[in-house]
Amino acid sequence: MNRPAPSPASWQFDHAAIRGDFPIFSRTIYGNPLTFLDSAASAQKPRVVIDAVRNLYESGYANIHRGIYMLSQEATDAYEATRETVRQLINAERTEECIFVRGATEGINLVAQSYGRTFLESGDEIILSNIEHHSNIVPWQLLRDEKKLKLRVAPVNDDGQVDLEAYKALLGPRTKMVALVHVSNAIGTILPVKEMIALAHEVGAKVLIDGCQAVPHMPVDVRELDADFYVFSGHKIYGPTGIGVLYAKFDLLEAMPPWQGGGDMISTVTFEKTTYNDLPHKFEAGTPNIAGGIGLKAALDYVTSIGYFQIQEYEKELYAYASERLRQVNSLRMIGTARDKAAVLSFVLEGIHPHDTGTILDREGIAVRTGHHCAQPTMDRFGVTATVRASFGIYNNKADVDRLVAGLEKVKEIFG
Ligand SMILES: *Cc1c(COP(=O)(O)O)cnc(C)c1O
Repeated sequence: MNRPAPSPASWQFDHAAIRGDFPIFSRTIYGNPLTFLDSAASAQKPRVVIDAVRNLYESGYANIHRGIYMLSQEATDAYEATRETVRQLINAERTEECIFVRGATEGINLVAQSYGRTFLESGDEIILSNIEHHSNIVPWQLLRDEKKLKLRVAPVNDDGQVDLEAYKALLGPRTKMVALVHVSNAIGTILPVKEMIALAHEVGAKVLIDGCQAVPHMPVDVRELDADFYVFSGHKIYGPTGIGVLYAKFDLLEAMPPWQGGGDMISTVTFEKTTYNDLPHKFEAGTPNIAGGIGLKAALDYVTSIGYFQIQEYEKELYAYASERLRQVNSLRMIGTARDKAAVLSFVLEGIHPHDTGTILDREGIAVRTGHHCAQPTMDRFGVTATVRASFGIYNNKADVDRLVAGLEKVKEIFG
């Protein structure tokens, strides 16, 4: 990694100030302070992100690319500056490898429809893990049905960690694509993706990593991982909705045909023939999410200014505290107990429906997600239809955990 080594001496940081960076926490819910435990679905926004978006619309807005006038050039520069920030964040080699998309979902669909349609053939195999988000399942199913491919699923053990031996056994000469979640949004497992990518490369497969739940919590280096494709969504890393990133190796992007056609992605157009624009614009048809892109830079700068080392140390401590407190709640069954986990706690209270739990917690000002978390195969694997999921962001603290535990005791009193 080419980042400066973190200094353990500097990891003490002012958490109250960080929480204060997020205006949402000044509001109340049913008269209670807000305990927001749904960052895995979407994270709250710091003031710097809100300001960046507002400043653009108030004093710097115009459509970007090709504008001859000052406003357009300023907006273009600001938008394109995000690409360099993204490149640095994930340590891509070139900015052209960083394609702006609506989010991870669109990024995966782009890869399936452009790369998959072009380079996969009848009988080829795609391997997924058992704990993928629907966004990393359905695009491959669409492709499978169109191209007569085969989807194969790498199982997870009872802790929710991928069974590496079983994964190895699935890999073979027919494997052309492996698509894996970096960190499970439903149960928090961190997959050993570096090792899994290396194994896939041994059989000549390409690998896509869904990094939605990784980039907000840990440093990601696409070159160190040797990922062929890596996607994430801005809104989960404290940025705006409607903007995300598809990273792909330059040669792959060069070989891939455009996915959507329109303005911005062309070089010349006649009714007979169109030539395409250079990377990254070849994959960015139409007016992009200008404000989203500019807000994303503010979000990434914010995360970098805190530092991943600090974020990891802080969230590790918070996660350990939360695990310990929840362990003491009677009749709580934790789903997903892998050794390597990020700040996601998924659980059920025996005999109480997760939606009932979520409804009571909401009355206390505690926002958790209940349901299948867009990962029904994960729920099936653990024999449940839904869980209660508490997921953490940099703004959460131990008081949030204490309030969650008190809320759960109340739920048990009411339904127990
Ligand atoms: C949220 C999420 C997605 C989908 O992201 P969108 O922003 O909805 O496109 C995919 N995978 C994981 C692991 C996620 O957490």
